[in-house]
Amino acid sequence: MSQHPAIAIDGPAASGKSTVARRLAQDWQLTMVNSGAMYRAVTWEVLRRGLDPEDTNVVVALLPQVSWGCQVRDGQTVMTVDASEPSMSELKSDAINAAVSIIAAIPEVRALLVSKQRDFLTLGPLVMEGRDIGTVVFPDTPFKVFVTASEEVRRQRRAAEGADDAVEERDRRDSERKTSPLRVAEGAVIVDSSTLAIEDVVAQVKEELIKLGWQA
Ligand code: C5P
Repeated sequence: MSQHPAIAIDGPAASGKSTVARRLAQDWQLTMVNSGAMYRAVTWEVLRRGLDPEDTNVVVALLPQVSWGCQVRDGQTVMTVDASEPSMSELKSDAINAAVSIIAAIPEVRALLVSKQRDFLTLGPLVMEGRDIGTVVFPDTPFKVFVTASEEVRRQRRAAEGADDAVEERDRRDSERKTSPLRVAEGAVIVDSSTLAIEDVVAQVKEELIKLGWQA
């Protein structure tokens, strides 16, 4: 495995972590990976086949039957599912919002996707956002950030986007699952975006990463 550095950005839904990750990628020329898109793509295939997301055995049996591909193209995380390539808007549907945290709690799904997430390190320096990037995917990186915001602010952000997304339910499942629950990684810098403009959040994260030794 090559030794490219990785920045791990974790946090709950609508905390602002995607915007932070995107800005770091742009400003510091990093490959950005949105790991949530990968869990969403598996969920997309489960639903497309009419399978029950709650039926763990059926979901686990599906995994080896499909060729799951992950790439970064034009700054976007693109998943291919056999010959199909679900678009980001398909991956953000209400049905997927409702089922993705059920699928993401299955250890076999996580093992498959974590291994693909680690493979991205061969591409170059990267920033990856998700729920377990600092705790599980890249536990050895010194560059870990946990972006958070109050529940109320996060609910308002989702509502402003027009998404019918049960944010609290998703966060509850993501925090309570047995395998790789959403946690602040040891050594992570915590940034609360509730009352800050996004520019200030980005500036604060950059400052903290540079203090940790990131060479911008
Ligand atoms: O980041 P996003 O909100 O698109 O993630 C969708 C879902 O995927 C999360 O609610 C969580 O259930 C799952 N996920 C995860 N681990 C990650 C990234 C996402 O469990 N690293």
